[in-house]
Amino acid sequence: MSRRVVIIGGGFAGFRAAVSLADAGYAVTVVDNRAQLGGRARSFVDPATGEVVDNGQHLFLSGYERTLAFLERLGTRDQVVFHDRLRVGFAEAGGKQYHLNCPNLSAPFHLIGGLLGLTSIPLTDKLRLIQIYADLSNLVDESVAQWLSRMGQGPRARKLFWDPLTIAALNELPEIASAVGLKAVLRVLMTKPAAQSRLGMARVGLSDLYAAPAVRLISQLGGQVISGKTVQSIIIRDSKVEAVLLADGTRFETDAVIAAIPPLALRKLLENSSALSVYPGDPDTLLKFGSSPILSVNLWVDPGTALPEESFVAMIGTEFQWLFKKTGYLSLIVSAAHHLLDWTNEQLVELALRDLKNCFPLMDGVRLIRSQVVREREATVSLGVGMESLRPSSKTRLPNFFLAGDWTATGLPATIESAVVSGEFAAQQIFNGK
Ligand SMILES: Cc1cc2nc3c(=O)[nH]c(=O)nc-3n(C[C@H](O)[C@H](O)[C@H](O)COP(=O)(O)OP(=O)(O)OC[C@H]3O[C@@H](n4cnc5c(N)ncnc54)[C@H](O)[C@@H]3O)c2cc1C
Repeated sequence: MSRRVVIIGGGFAGFRAAVSLADAGYAVTVVDNRAQLGGRARSFVDPATGEVVDNGQHLFLSGYERTLAFLERLGTRDQVVFHDRLRVGFAEAGGKQYHLNCPNLSAPFHLIGGLLGLTSIPLTDKLRLIQIYADLSNLVDESVAQWLSRMGQGPRARKLFWDPLTIAALNELPEIASAVGLKAVLRVLMTKPAAQSRLGMARVGLSDLYAAPAVRLISQLGGQVISGKTVQSIIIRDSKVEAVLLADGTRFETDAVIAAIPPLALRKLLENSSALSVYPGDPDTLLKFGSSPILSVNLWVDPGTALPEESFVAMIGTEFQWLFKKTGYLSLIVSAAHHLLDWTNEQLVELALRDLKNCFPLMDGVRLIRSQVVREREATVSLGVGMESLRPSSKTRLPNFFLAGDWTATGLPATIESAVVSGEFAAQQIFNGK
């Protein structure tokens, strides 16, 4: 009989681990506490329009090698559509538009070429890009704002390029986010082949992109996926996990467990199990992982409205930071939206419309048909200064209990790619120990 593994958490990390293990002949059981699988990357059907809506727009980088390999295994790789090169349209409040259009050169010259072409950034700041490139392997744990100031990047370069990049890539304000995370992103952009720094979007809802195909594949391979059930605790005997206990009393005997859940959920699971000491570091550090919210306002507008040509545009000088053109509606996004969480839906929709008209004067007469606000209060962990060293590896103090999740130590910002890599790491630990 194949060995049994219970995976707690049905997000990218948990499903990646589960598929790797099921492919290798393990009997996997994935348990997730939400009715809808996919964790923080999921979609739902909008009851009013029947359209599939994501819990927030997710951007993919063509350098997400492990994610793309996972999607390949699920048969959905071609559902993520990338630009032909790194290019981003910007629309500034007041109506000014410009583009980061990286030429077809090898890295880092494509990015340097693209930045040199951004006419609104002062030449002195552009010339200091060489200094930034040279400093990428210098991992001083300081805030992005401190690092950029040391690298001589002035307010205009910050406003037009660095702040939007930091907030989009790290979901945190440059004054809080650690420069270690931004450097990891820049290393991909500046040192990997230029073909790896293209941005892309899924053309299907996130659930159809990976959660539903993963469930199908796992059951074809003899495993099972249980949604809407909370794992209450792990049961330890003779210094090993022997079972997991669900909140409804169901017990699953198992040979190994992967907890692919966020830090506070892990802390609760360990507390319930009277097993805080199995955490690989000081379990109190789990409480230090704060979270950063992402807010989406979806607007269904008159079909005759003049829309920008690009599928997504960065908005500069407004509260909303991105406009995404979706099939049937527009999605406006604020990352690191700490300050807007308590606003009412009406206030947020009004603000979104004002920002939209401000950045895209062509939409001045836009007629709103319907709106929807999605608040993801714990969209990602907030990886501020000092947090990098607190990210745990996949190993715990028990030989058959492992950790995964975008927030664990993958060397990547807390993104989909980090979640997938963490799932691979955890599965690898089980392969190593068999
Ligand atoms: C709005 C938004 C936009 C984003 N944009 C991007 C983007 O553009 N690009 C990008 O790369 N990343 C983006 N991210 C981040 C990305 O979604 C996450 O990094 C990734 O989905 C995390 O996956 P995970 O498997 O680590 O965790 P999760 O997706 O959180 O999965 C963990 C699952 O475990 C469940 N769980 C917790 N405790 C228990 C328990 N005791 N029992 C059972 N189940 C439990 C949770 O409910 C959850 O379903 C975005 C996130 C959000 C919210």
